[in-house]
Amino acid sequence: MTNEELVESLIEGGHLKTPAVIEAFRKVDRATFAPEREKPHAYENRPLALPAGQTISQPLTVAFMLELLEPKRGEKILDIGAGSGWQTALLAELVGNPLREPADGGGKIIAVERIEELWAFAATNLTNAGFMESGAVKLVHGDASEGYASEAPYDKIVAAAAGAVIPEAWKGQLKVGGRIIAPVGEAIVVLDKTGPEEFEERKFHGFRFVPLVSNR
Ligand code: SAH
Repeated sequence: MTNEELVESLIEGGHLKTPAVIEAFRKVDRATFAPEREKPHAYENRPLALPAGQTISQPLTVAFMLELLEPKRGEKILDIGAGSGWQTALLAELVGNPLREPADGGGKIIAVERIEELWAFAATNLTNAGFMESGAVKLVHGDASEGYASEAPYDKIVAAAAGAVIPEAWKGQLKVGGRIIAPVGEAIVVLDKTGPEEFEERKFHGFRFVPLVSNR
């Protein structure tokens, strides 16, 4: 299979819909982000094994979450659980590159990963894909269960690891009008911040994620 075949199957399955999201999936080659042993499977619609028992999420799950997140040019997005950096790269494509597109204002992705080995792996992959030197991505080694306050507030927050609830800190670091997409248990939750203390929630069931692990 090729990356294009993966994209076509996600479009046919109804998982990829928005032209900008489709374009990002075309530009970011999943194989660049797969560990050597998983590269032959990079274009299959399934999770891929990462070191330390983690996974690169299934393409249809990432497509579903990014379609819900609706990333826009110029936005600042917190990406919790960078893993391989694949989703980080898709997000960076979607918010725009501040060097390539200064007229757009460019966006920024703050990606946080708690496992050092994966943080280093993501850094290598994002460098190979050209995102590190452009300044489009800030990759942080740390625990984002309390968010990442020093870059807050964010237009959007997306998490790839599931907790029991959406942490209060994430809600506080979100702009009014912003949106969080995060797994809670085996559901994907969409949380819209409609006022300083007001939120609207929707839930989609039937997904599996690695756990959000707190260092506290
Ligand atoms: N988006 C990633 C998916 C990685 S799986 C990709 O495209 O490859 C989820 C990741 O969340 C794992 O790497 C895990 O180590 C990380 N994670 C879990 N709890 C975390 C926390 N509290 N802070 C930051 N990262 C965390």
